Amino acid sequence: MGRAVDPVCGMDVDTSRTPYKTLYKGVVYYFCSHHCKKAFEENPEYYLRYGPRGMPKQ
Ligand SMILES: [Zn+2]
Repeated sequence: MGRAVDPVCGMDVDTSRTPYKTLYKGVVYYFCSHHCKKAFEENPEYYLRYGPRGMPKQ
């Protein structure tokens, strides 16, 4: 069981439990929700550059 930080909202994510993950440039990113995953996939460079920005608007 591992922990990761959701790059969109900054929440701790349990990597063995979350179904929300994506592969980007050879790195797997984990998310707390479908909304965070979608936000990241739409603009990954933004979140990688500026860091977590809180929960996306739903
Ligand atoms: Zn999140």
